Amino acid sequence: MLEKAESQERSDRGILCAKCEHLNVRGANQCSRCGSHLYISCVNCGHRTERVRTRCDHCGRKLHRGLFQRYGRRIKANLSLTPLQVILFVIGIAIVFGFIVLVASVPMPSLF
Ligand SMILES: [Zn+2]
Ligand SMILES: [Zn+2]
Repeated sequence: MLEKAESQERSDRGILCAKCEHLNVRGANQCSRCGSHLYISCVNCGHRTERVRTRCDHCGRKLHRGLFQRYGRRIKANLSLTPLQVILFVIGIAIVFGFIVLVASVPMPSLF
């Protein structure tokens, strides 16, 4: 009886954003503060579960492996660079490398 009332109260409070912890109204798909998705689809059974949960409501599978897949996808997307980005990247590496050489060429007095 008590447990039932408690779960009812919890569902009335709304959906907590996994990113900014803003409490959104029930039925919202995206956070009204930061715009991130409040639900995640289970990779195993496809059940829509709140992102703040660590396991699927339906089958109990861990949900946050999906986040890593998303990061992997983002990295892959970043790898498809435009020629300009490649040039900027090479220039950036050259500057960093030049800086390291410059620092390394400065004599270290106490070492030897
Ligand atoms: Zn948010
Ligand atoms: Zn599931």
